[in-house]
Amino acid sequence: MVPDPETGELEQQGVNALIVTPDMEGVEVFENNRAKTGIRGTWQARFRFNDVRVPAENVLHEEGKGLKVALSCLNYGRCTLSAGVTGAAKAARDQGIKWAQTRYQFERPLADFELVQQKIARMSAVTYAMDAMLYMMTGMLDRGETDIMVETAITKAFCSEFGWKVIDEAMQIMGGEGYMTEHELERSWRDNRIHSIVEGSNEVMQSFIFAYGGKQLAEKMVSIQEALLWDFDESIGDNLSRILTAATTPAVLKKALPMGAQLFLGLKPSAPELRSVHAALQEQADTLTSLIQKHSHYFKLVSKWEREDVVKHQAQQARVANNAICLFALASSLSKMDDQLRSGEYGPEFERDRAAVEYLFDWFERKIHQNFGEMRENADESMREAAEAARAHNDTLSSEDFYVHEGSPLGRDAGKEPPTEHIPQFDGDGQDPREVDRAPGETYELDVEDVAEEMAEPTERGNGASEEPSPASDPERS
Ligand SMILES: Cc1cc2nc3c(=O)[nH]c(=O)nc-3n(C[C@H](O)[C@H](O)[C@H](O)COP(=O)(O)OP(=O)(O)OC[C@H]3O[C@@H](n4cnc5c(N)ncnc54)[C@H](O)[C@@H]3O)c2cc1C
Repeated sequence: MVPDPETGELEQQGVNALIVTPDMEGVEVFENNRAKTGIRGTWQARFRFNDVRVPAENVLHEEGKGLKVALSCLNYGRCTLSAGVTGAAKAARDQGIKWAQTRYQFERPLADFELVQQKIARMSAVTYAMDAMLYMMTGMLDRGETDIMVETAITKAFCSEFGWKVIDEAMQIMGGEGYMTEHELERSWRDNRIHSIVEGSNEVMQSFIFAYGGKQLAEKMVSIQEALLWDFDESIGDNLSRILTAATTPAVLKKALPMGAQLFLGLKPSAPELRSVHAALQEQADTLTSLIQKHSHYFKLVSKWEREDVVKHQAQQARVANNAICLFALASSLSKMDDQLRSGEYGPEFERDRAAVEYLFDWFERKIHQNFGEMRENADESMREAAEAARAHNDTLSSEDFYVHEGSPLGRDAGKEPPTEHIPQFDGDGQDPREVDRAPGETYELDVEDVAEEMAEPTERGNGASEEPSPASDPERS
């Protein structure tokens, strides 16, 4: 809200991004550093804003352009998050495979057993795809492409889900030893769990990918339906005859007839062409274009079957979104392998990657077809009923025995008090941030040598907390 220069009345003029630092008057940090599952090298404080006055010079970018700032931050954040989990997954893959090759059971290395081989192949295929998607994505960013929200959402959803699964599979391969803290996989497992929750949770990403990714096609369908009064309850013949009499312009007819034929006669649009792919990848290229053609067709069919219910039927949205995610993974992997083939650098690493791509195509083609099948026939109805019955039963349980979100309309007091006594609390309630001698907007410069020294010093805390550096022991970080 900004005051109108003439009337003085507050007007909504877009969203503003503001820099607010903890030392500003009215910023109340009421919990400095919450204990959490992983990423313990970062801090999560809780704070309230009490009538905070933000100076005009603290507007980030331009007035009214805050949403743009937030969206570009998300684009970058989704890439850096994906890069982090890709690195962790590749390290877990290599560690997991090494373990499988060197740990013997029944007088054979674990890697000789097919269920372990399945994990190795999956880890190899998805880490290849993660790398490929990330390079595709960051290439788009480097080229300055702006409308990339669907692609960053896809990359984030894929890397966060499959990256964590790779780490989980490596832990499974390592068995009981994988669960032990000293082998480091345990920390990676905890640290990387967060990525499907933050930077837009994966469920929200699935809905976004469906809605925003399908926006243009949906708009085209709606515009034709409206222009030509297409009635989904009527037969093809009735619809087409009405179209033929109602349509007044050749341009509308040109668009509507092919769409009607696709929806009601099952005719698919032609597959896109993929030219100049390395000859060794022609089979995968053909698979990809055929899957893209079907994907576009199924988007229209789902819209026809679900009609306005598609807005609330998120399970259907997720099937379409998951197929879009798999297709982007395949397209990126094809592009990366094409590059590798042309570079001519062959050897065991190349062979691993080549086989990973072949498996990825085989595996994801089946996954995508399974989703197509479930778009038509699925267990969604009984799923909704089961959820409803479980919710009704839950209503009979007293909220006082469970945790309730503090923002719930019931209020936090409606639930039980979270116990904190036995949870290792991290340092951080040392210095009031308002006492730090720093101008608004001034950033803290990290003294790398100080931090390294601190990390070398043993801390007194037990319960696993001592393995993490203590950012709070530097008062300026408060
Ligand atoms: C360690 C950590 C660091 C963070 N760092 C930052 C940060 O730097 N900047 C920042 O802005 N935020 C940060 N966050 C907040 C983070 O972005 C949110 O936790 C995240 O967006 C999820 O929101 P929520 O926790 O309110 O969960 P909720 O919104 O309550 O969601 C809970 C569950 O419900 C699902 N859900 C919610 N809405 C829908 C829907 N419409 N359809 C289907 N499913 C739905 C979610 O997918 C999720 O599974 C951080 C959180 C943590 C834990």
